[in-house]
Amino acid sequence: MVGSQTGANDRVVVVVTHFDGLAKTPVEGQGASCDASGPAVLLELARQLGRQPLHSSVRLVFADGHWPLSNHPALFKGLYGSEDTARAMQREGALARVRSVFVVDHVGGRELRFANEALMTPPLRQLLFDQLSALGHADALDLGLQIRARDDHEPFVDEGARNVLALIGWSKDPGHSLDDRCRESHDDLAAIDRDNLATAARLAVRLVHELDIDR
Ligand SMILES: [Zn+2]
Repeated sequence: MVGSQTGANDRVVVVVTHFDGLAKTPVEGQGASCDASGPAVLLELARQLGRQPLHSSVRLVFADGHWPLSNHPALFKGLYGSEDTARAMQREGALARVRSVFVVDHVGGRELRFANEALMTPPLRQLLFDQLSALGHADALDLGLQIRARDDHEPFVDEGARNVLALIGWSKDPGHSLDDRCRESHDDLAAIDRDNLATAARLAVRLVHELDIDR
């Protein structure tokens, strides 16, 4: 599912999230944070960006198939929706016009902390840190510890896109992986922190405006 707003120039900012959850049994997570929170942020982006003229075109991508359908090794890949979108954009020639790929995932939990995703482009990592600092949350990103979060920006990078920005919720606890948290039974609405979700949305709006600046 893709929503677009056309800008004045021919450049494209891709914002991608996924809307499918991981639960395989009723007691596993309901996916409130992972990942209804990402679509919530993209819907807020649509609401706010739709009111103002943009330099670049913005494509909001709501991807399905983030999680694999089976534990079978041949099927355990995931990221099908973002892969399909990235390939389609490559075929159409649109990927060459992409100036940045911004992934949003797993925001709005109790801990306001974001992954220092290793595929982030250094100036965009700095941009994320600066914007967090401007909102009073400089401690939400650990610049000294890069990690790899397998997420929906990857297929775009595989197809040749550059300039990755990531807003992916993360935990201080190194033994507590994102996948573990997505499986937890309490990933329901009670686990969503309204203030943190609002902060993530505010941050995402600021970041897209920065990505849109015609430099
Ligand atoms: Zn997720």
